[in-house]
Amino acid sequence: MHNFIFFLFCLILLLPAACAPEKNVIPVFDERNAWRLTGELVAFGPRSSGSDANLKQAEFIAKTAESYGALISRQEFRRTTPAGPIRFVNVEAVIPGKRSDFIIVGSHFDTKKLPPGIKFEGANDGASSTAVLLELIRAVKHSGVKPEYTLKFVFFDGEECFNEYTDNDGLFGSRYYARQLSLRNEVRQCRAVIILDMVGDRDLNITLPLNSDKQLCGLLFEAAAEAGHRKYFDYFSGELLDDHIPFKKLGIPVMDIIDFEFGPGNSFWHTSEDRLSNMSAESLKIVGQTVLRLVFFEKIWKKM
Ligand SMILES: [Zn+2]
Repeated sequence: MHNFIFFLFCLILLLPAACAPEKNVIPVFDERNAWRLTGELVAFGPRSSGSDANLKQAEFIAKTAESYGALISRQEFRRTTPAGPIRFVNVEAVIPGKRSDFIIVGSHFDTKKLPPGIKFEGANDGASSTAVLLELIRAVKHSGVKPEYTLKFVFFDGEECFNEYTDNDGLFGSRYYARQLSLRNEVRQCRAVIILDMVGDRDLNITLPLNSDKQLCGLLFEAAAEAGHRKYFDYFSGELLDDHIPFKKLGIPVMDIIDFEFGPGNSFWHTSEDRLSNMSAESLKIVGQTVLRLVFFEKIWKKM
């Protein structure tokens, strides 16, 4: 009889734990850290591909992501460009999940090469999304929560074209990374590619280009609604060429989280107006917290 009472006692103790659904804990995005990192990236000066500042920035990104606990690797390659031969480097920071199938969260870190004399910070176009990615890595590792899918944070070099986008100009880093994915037969393991670009505008309006995957966009809208940020996310009027395209060509569901309305009529884009004073930490938080919610969403590994 004593044994039976002990058994009942154990059952009462264990039952709630066994029945309670696993809590979906979402890591917390620290916008102050993201903002500080944005400033540190801008402090490298103009960071076009092949420049010293670009290489130093790549090392800073790798070291920072490593200090947060991600597994780092670098992809170095050379290309002949309209500006001559250039050495590029992609930085990959991996957080292993419960499964080896993975989601890529990407951002380019190079800045547009503008004519000398223009003071260009590339604070929004380059630094903002790069800083958000770094803070996402910190937030996930700090939370101690293991994501379902492995998360591959990829910092692409060479998104910006030197003259105009062609097969030999622009999207250098993402095209190279997608090619490697294909050569390693890892395309099917890649469940989604989420690109972040220009996410720091203080007047935030995320404009998902129409060549993004509709199901992935739907999940993002749901995640944004749950985070209380739904009003900041909508579709763009057309398609955009960005780092999501080389992956779309491989048949992977892709999404480009970009605010392509930076200043009236996007007039701040690729100008001296692309500076910290036209951005806000709050915008970084809205995007960062929504992306965290998306990648930790139960639905993303059930649907994607
Ligand atoms: Zn740009």
